[in-house]
Amino acid sequence: MTVVERRLCSDARTLVTLRKQPMLEIRPTCEHCNRPLPAASLEARICTYECTFCASCVDNVLANVCPNCGGGFVARPIRPSRNWKGDNYLGKDPASTKINHRPVDPVVHAKFLAMVKNIPPDKR
Ligand SMILES: [Zn+2]
Ligand SMILES: [Zn+2]
Repeated sequence: MTVVERRLCSDARTLVTLRKQPMLEIRPTCEHCNRPLPAASLEARICTYECTFCASCVDNVLANVCPNCGGGFVARPIRPSRNWKGDNYLGKDPASTKINHRPVDPVVHAKFLAMVKNIPPDKR
């Protein structure tokens, strides 16, 4: 294999790796209160960047404003636990185990809310 061929191979591998990323990252806990949010939880909320919080924090702490991007939240979809079709299930694509606990500073978020809160998510 020539150097150029080797580089092309390595680029192709990188592309394959990048292409494997777009599935939703199912994070294990609420970023604010660290409450467990297992893959089947109906309490998990996400923004478009997959910032993950529990429903209670979204309603009572964040006022539906993501502290990281300013977007709104929706219920996180549930990845099937059974292999119904094409290996698209938790057994092959398990939930993340990487805890991302970064509690929101209420003073900082209050300032952010003052700018963003009264604009509906679809107009932000
Ligand atoms: Zn929470
Ligand atoms: Zn966000």
